[in-house]
Amino acid sequence: MPMRGVGRGLTYAVGADMVGLDGFGVGSLVRIPLGRRVELGIVMGEGEEAVPEARLKRVLGLVQPFPVVRPEGVQLAIWLARYYACGLEQVFEVMIPGAVRRGMGRREGRAVRLIRSAVTEEALKGARKQREVVEFLSGQLAREIWPRALLMKRLAVSGVVLDGLVKKGVLEESLEVTERVAYGDELGAQQVGAAAHGHDLTEEQAVCVKDILESVEKRQFVAHLLHGVTGSGKTEVYMRVMKEVLAAGGGVIFLVPEVALTPQTVGRLRARFEAVSGDRVVVWHSQLSDGERYDGWRAVANGEARVVVGARSAVFAPVRNLKLVVVDEEHEPAYKQEEVPRYNGRDVAVYRAMLNEAVCLLGSATPSMETLHNVAIGKYRENRLRKRIDDRQLPLMHVVDMRREKAGVFSRLLADKMRERYERREQVILFLNRRGHDTSLNCPDCGFVAECDFCSITLTHHFRDRRLRCHMCGFETGVPSVCPKCRSPKIHYKGTGTEKVEAHVKRLLPMARVARIDADTTRRKHALREQLEAFRQGRLDVLVGTQMIAKGLDFPNVTLVGLLDADLSMHMPDFRAAERTFQLVVQVSGRAGRGDRAGEVVLQTYLPSAPPIQYGRQQDFDGFTELELKQRREFGYPPYRHLIHHLFRAANREKLDFYTRQWVRHVEPGLKERGVEVRGPAPCPVERIQNLYRYQIWYFAPSVTRVVPWLQEQRTAFKWDPEMVEVLDVDAMQLS
Ligand code: ADP
Ligand code: ZN
Ligand code: ZN
Repeated sequence: MPMRGVGRGLTYAVGADMVGLDGFGVGSLVRIPLGRRVELGIVMGEGEEAVPEARLKRVLGLVQPFPVVRPEGVQLAIWLARYYACGLEQVFEVMIPGAVRRGMGRREGRAVRLIRSAVTEEALKGARKQREVVEFLSGQLAREIWPRALLMKRLAVSGVVLDGLVKKGVLEESLEVTERVAYGDELGAQQVGAAAHGHDLTEEQAVCVKDILESVEKRQFVAHLLHGVTGSGKTEVYMRVMKEVLAAGGGVIFLVPEVALTPQTVGRLRARFEAVSGDRVVVWHSQLSDGERYDGWRAVANGEARVVVGARSAVFAPVRNLKLVVVDEEHEPAYKQEEVPRYNGRDVAVYRAMLNEAVCLLGSATPSMETLHNVAIGKYRENRLRKRIDDRQLPLMHVVDMRREKAGVFSRLLADKMRERYERREQVILFLNRRGHDTSLNCPDCGFVAECDFCSITLTHHFRDRRLRCHMCGFETGVPSVCPKCRSPKIHYKGTGTEKVEAHVKRLLPMARVARIDADTTRRKHALREQLEAFRQGRLDVLVGTQMIAKGLDFPNVTLVGLLDADLSMHMPDFRAAERTFQLVVQVSGRAGRGDRAGEVVLQTYLPSAPPIQYGRQQDFDGFTELELKQRREFGYPPYRHLIHHLFRAANREKLDFYTRQWVRHVEPGLKERGVEVRGPAPCPVERIQNLYRYQIWYFAPSVTRVVPWLQEQRTAFKWDPEMVEVLDVDAMQLS
């Protein structure tokens, strides 16, 4: 439901019936009359003008019996709309889940509760399924009352089993407001034992925890960067700090780049806080149903749950008394939302922590240049973990110069090592950030290349379905048997994607169990989780995947990692190409040698002497950072200036050309005054997508707040051609 009533700063009268109402206040969602319609509004504060009450319209009522946004959330929304140049209503639409806005309510259902005193050997004798239920419930400290349906689903038992227990008096049944919580069947709290209770901290960890806790105790905003090599135990540090914050009555938001891709981190948090300390953890992810979303949001708003774990939008959760915001893998581009509002969850997290006078804890093995710069200028405090747990060695890195290799997919070194690992029953991960079988199809006789009908890129060959596909717009077509242009039968396939890699693994190791994880194989719900679980349990020998699986996974039996095309990210038309490549090399190598055996990494590259490969091989963060920041400063790129990207799309190229030039002429003087450098307009590297031509302008700005609101005013007032779409992206991450 769009929130048309929001964002106009309207003043309404509040009836006496509402003032004392539970849940009414700043941040409440209300129904208001607007013209002849009833719309939604957020209470932003008390009106300032002295308008006689009689002339005001009245607020009609509350949509939810709890404030859906915290008062600081209202401030956050105002800041976000200004900073990212969008409407306040668009901000509230991402801030508040649809289910909450639609006025969804709670649901009643049968729920059961374990009567511990009634559990006897006698009662459970010979009833295996019943015993399972009782054992499960005895271990659950975080919740006492369980909805029947949830229990049945989670433990795969029938209602008869529960009825049997109710009859024996072991379970008590009642009618309750039931919570639609997606419990462990999605993301299990798998770890038990040491992992659940926590390790004794290493010296390095203890120093970090102490320093961060000092900030927490000061009750002031401080941003910390926890910069720790892969496998150095960052998660343990987060959890220690969280534990203290919770013990002191505070709330926590924990952000991960994507919940589905970091099941282990989420599992560890749940194991620690639900199973051990009895704190409820709300996991906020994209596959929740509306009901689950509603219940989660309400539980947080009411203070029943104080820990929220989720992807970027979880930063808006109405956590009470927020004292800590953790951003794991803070460098991840996934934190940036690539649609309006184009916010970066990491940066919003920092701002929210500031509003709450809380601590923001950013963690990464490969921090972004922006964050490192903030450390350098003293805005953030850095805490470092330089050693892996148990002094495990960082993996041995081999760089293979692919210009000297004959075979296209695996170098001799990588093939030899793969065979060796397979014989030793150790596991291998192969990365290639390109899906499909071949990346292009061409004709050697006439030079024809198969391109998308609607975009200016080549089509990818998907072997199994015998299709050519566009990875930009989804267009697809059959595979021609002769050249469509000259009828030559000599069609050539070039380039390698994950599908071909998988086929080559099967050729090299015919008996090995291989799985592929990429956007093509994980469409089905749960497919990703199942594959990762199979690999973890050792039911697979080799995992082939795109960058999707490069982060956050901890498989102790993986002793070899191959990065098949380390240069791929280097050829992107993006000033962050070197940074991305360095991060990829380090993160990918972090997947090897996490157990007792040392790991090895084979990097295949056509540019063996490129700095990100060289520094990455030595895991030399400081060296790479110094070089990279020097170059960024020279060219005036972020983090030294903010990059604001303006993208324009239209079916007609002349129109684009004309209007973008007009626009630049119009804004250039004002921008110059504000110290902004303008580059463009120019066609984008991918000039056409879905039959729309694309142009871009880059603004390099010393400050966002001095420039963007002004630019936004100009943009709203400018007479654009109605067939043209323009998008402004502040602190842009995706440049294409
Ligand atoms: P990172 O996030 O820095 O890559 P993790 O937090 O995943 O590292 O930790 C790596 C492994 O070390 C995990 O299996 C974790 O349980 C274990 N670990 C963490 N801290 C300790 C500790 N103090 N003692 C023993 N094991 C630890
Ligand atoms: Zn041809
Ligand atoms: Zn296309």
